Amino acid sequence: MSGGNPCLNCGACCAFFRVSFYWGEVHSDYAVPEALTEPVSFARLAMQGTNQPAPRCVALQGEVGGCVACSIYENRPGPCREFDPFDAEGACNRAREAHGLPPLEPPLVAA
Ligand code: SF4
Ligand code: SF4
Repeated sequence: MSGGNPCLNCGACCAFFRVSFYWGEVHSDYAVPEALTEPVSFARLAMQGTNQPAPRCVALQGEVGGCVACSIYENRPGPCREFDPFDAEGACNRAREAHGLPPLEPPLVAA
């Protein structure tokens, strides 16, 4: 794989996990668009489309594994900002595997 951002040709996590967050994020500096959310519990919202048996965030543009984009990138909620493709738990690769995509290799660290 090239050294570019692997997320630009993936989007698997946006169509795998429930993306839920504290409701206050719609009124925070993030200003998550409330119209694209739905309540999932007291004080918590989720991105529409992610609280489904076959999740897909309403803000995801493009087809998973192809050229994708987040239509609210500047206003995406905290879980999306914090999601690490190379997290130790392997969440990214679980999402990729579910969509038939190969696992990411950790980036090489310069000596
Ligand atoms: S599954 Fe991993 S590589 Fe794909 S968009 Fe999410 S963080 Fe990026
Ligand atoms: S808000 Fe954007 S980054 Fe977050 S799940 Fe939806 S499409 Fe993906």
